[in-house]
Amino acid sequence: MQELLERRKGLKRKILIVDDEAIEREILGYMLSDLYEISFADNGRIALDIIKQEKLTLSLVILDLHMPELDGYSLLEILRADNELRRIPAIVLTSEKGAEVKSLQLGAADFITKPYDAPDVIRARVQRSIELAEDSIIIHETERDELTGLFNKEYFFEYGKRLDYQNQLPMDAIVLDINRFHIINELYGRNYGDSVLKKIGGYIHESIQDTGGLACRFESNGFCIYLPHSPDLNERLEKHIDKYKNILEKQNISIRIGVYSDDGSGLGMEQRFDRARLACQKLRNNYSTSYRVYNDELHSKELHSERLINDMDKALAEKQFVVFYQPKYNITGDIPRLTSAEALIRWFHPEFGMVSPGEFISLFEDNGLIRKLDKYVWNEAAAQIRLWKEKYGFCLPVSVNVSRVDIFDQMLGETLERIVTANGLSHENLLLEITESAYSDNSLKLIDTVNKLRARGFKIEMDDFGSGYSSLNMLTSLPIDALKLDMKFIRNMCSNRKNLSMVGIMIEIARLLEVPVIAEGVETQEQMEKLKDYGCDVIQGYYFSKPLPPADFEKLIEKELNETSY
Ligand code: C2E
Ligand code: MG
Ligand code: MG
Repeated sequence: MQELLERRKGLKRKILIVDDEAIEREILGYMLSDLYEISFADNGRIALDIIKQEKLTLSLVILDLHMPELDGYSLLEILRADNELRRIPAIVLTSEKGAEVKSLQLGAADFITKPYDAPDVIRARVQRSIELAEDSIIIHETERDELTGLFNKEYFFEYGKRLDYQNQLPMDAIVLDINRFHIINELYGRNYGDSVLKKIGGYIHESIQDTGGLACRFESNGFCIYLPHSPDLNERLEKHIDKYKNILEKQNISIRIGVYSDDGSGLGMEQRFDRARLACQKLRNNYSTSYRVYNDELHSKELHSERLINDMDKALAEKQFVVFYQPKYNITGDIPRLTSAEALIRWFHPEFGMVSPGEFISLFEDNGLIRKLDKYVWNEAAAQIRLWKEKYGFCLPVSVNVSRVDIFDQMLGETLERIVTANGLSHENLLLEITESAYSDNSLKLIDTVNKLRARGFKIEMDDFGSGYSSLNMLTSLPIDALKLDMKFIRNMCSNRKNLSMVGIMIEIARLLEVPVIAEGVETQEQMEKLKDYGCDVIQGYYFSKPLPPADFEKLIEKELNETSY
């Protein structure tokens, strides 16, 4: 902010002189014109039009009290009653006793008495009024967010745009969000949530004392910071993050920060914040404090995402989506046995080739398109189970993924029921995988949905167990039929004892809950054997097979049939 104010000192402020007497206007104009850019109005009505037009750039109005049409008092009243105009200070010109008090009461910043004092005195009063008004912009109470003391969103953007307009300085934009803030509220209560916001607001306040700039609270759990561009913004950010990160993480709080660093392309304030927000959104699934800077690559990724969204309907109609199947083997006996499969979607895009779910699932979750896609997969999987049943004479259960978004679908149970019935299957044939992290979206809703699905006879496998933010508490409140350990535990399990014990503990938890454990992402013999030792029931992973198209998967079924008598 200091830097801004200094730069502003170098610029010529705009002043409007309003007086019905031409000679008075000229004298004042003459005194001030070398320091300020002056415009004139000869009555209140014209003055009001000019003020409205130039509200963003006008620094001061000098106002005669007695004028035809609209006098100075009325104009003052209009200015002070208007949210946008009241920030422009007004100095009144008066020759009568008593008028000073009345005009100050009406919100005038100062007054100049006629006949005029020495030009130096007038210039000093004008300069002081402008400076006071510019400073008071920073401390006006009604423009603040009550909880954090930072600006509120509306004022922040209005003020920022005004600064841009006046100064044309390069500015950086930062968006800061608290990860899973609703969980903090839910677990520890709103008062605690408020105290977290206050604390982070305080840190931001402290930081901008160092960097300059302005900040606001944005929606419920976010903050925006607008600050003069600095080429070493990243280092500064890291310094600030280092300072606060540990304190926050001790309380299980982490933040994500999106940055737009001015690159001279002359974007408006809102566009800068759109870009910072996009960078911030890309960190949404992170659980630790991190930041990301917007760049062209992010922009082209965004365009790519747009393409995928636009292409989805056509892709469904043209069957560009293909369901692959990955086997799950039961390893409790001497020989691993094919016990079920997971349906995993693949998109064969005519232009981009095979697009993996990692690229589009969360994208489609953001806009709800996933519901359509999931139904497609459920139907395909159910039809496949039926086909294999007809072909091989037995039912190989297949699990399908139920997105966090589907949980909110009122018709979920009915839709699945219809699919199962239409294909002549029983509920246990179509297993449902629900990711653990859906619990943190809305735990009550998830518990309710899972209960209803189970009441219909569906079996629920909790996917990605251990990946999310949910508490062990969840396990007692959420009834499930199997636990699928998150892949990351398997990936690291053989690297040290700690990781290995972690897997052991999770298998123990499953034992307590009396549900089978599935380990996914198993790639090596070593992992397989250790899991078997720990009592893991089912294994899915490249060790046995990658996800396969139905025709290739059939070879696994046939192999299994040759080795056993199903
Ligand atoms: P997920 O449900 O946890 O699926 C397991 C993922 O692990 C799959 O990735 C699978 O290909 C991969 N995987 C299996 N074994 C191994 C292994 O040994 N090593 C490694 N590195 N990876 C292995 P995929 O197919 O890319 O799917 C990623 C995620 O996308 C899935 O994670 C699931 O959350 C989601 N997804 C996939 N298909 C669907 C769908 O039809 N609907 C919904 N809602 N989500 C889906
Ligand atoms: Mg899954
Ligand atoms: Mg999984």
